[in-house]
Amino acid sequence: GIQREALVATLAAIADRIESEKDHLTDLDSAIGDADHGANLHRGFQAALDGADPDDDPAAFVKAAGMALLSKVGGASGPLYGGSLAVASSEFEEGITTESSVAFAEAYLEKVKDRGGASVGDKTMVDALTPAVHTYKRAIEVDDLDPLAALSKAVDATERGVRFTTPIRASKGRASYLGWRSVGHPDPGATSTLYLLEEIHDVAA
Ligand code: ADP
Ligand code: MG
Ligand code: MG
Repeated sequence: GIQREALVATLAAIADRIESEKDHLTDLDSAIGDADHGANLHRGFQAALDGADPDDDPAAFVKAAGMALLSKVGGASGPLYGGSLAVASSEFEEGITTESSVAFAEAYLEKVKDRGGASVGDKTMVDALTPAVHTYKRAIEVDDLDPLAALSKAVDATERGVRFTTPIRASKGRASYLGWRSVGHPDPGATSTLYLLEEIHDVAA
């Protein structure tokens, strides 16, 4: 059905975007980490795409993508991206609806925070993901926007979240080893989170 096709198209668009941003993400990670974030995600999303079964129902499809990321990305971001996706996928067991998309977004954020122990202000993907999820939820539940308009607002909020990571000092992950020297660089994982959101939005549009 349409949902399966949309999921395959979204995964393909994300894998493509990560491929074209691979060197950029690696540059960002070379400034405050170990220069592998682009390669890590590229390997992971390629594996997720290669292993994707278009006949899976939405929950199984998203879970399989998460498991592929979990086993192939490695580093700190692998369990965060992959494990959280695999767990949050269960919100789609009764299909992808506006309501289940909000539940999925919230479950994903919760898992990332659980597993990584980071909060807003630690200069991680949580700084991008938190405004993304809160803005999406609010746009749907309070402002009564349709999912695409809500996603568009979420993308804008995520961009602000990425910009917020630049002037702050890292207190989680590899970048925290740099202490004050991490100041002045955007966080790679927050940046890749923005790319994912942008592709989800663009495929939905
Ligand atoms: P590694 O740092 O192990 O080389 P990656 O380079 O793939 O892994 O990913 C680095 C990104 O992971 C960081 O930019 C940050 O966004 C994210 N990250 C690292 N540690 C945490 C954490 N504890 N919680 C949330 N995100 C984290
Ligand atoms: Mg790294
Ligand atoms: Mg690494």
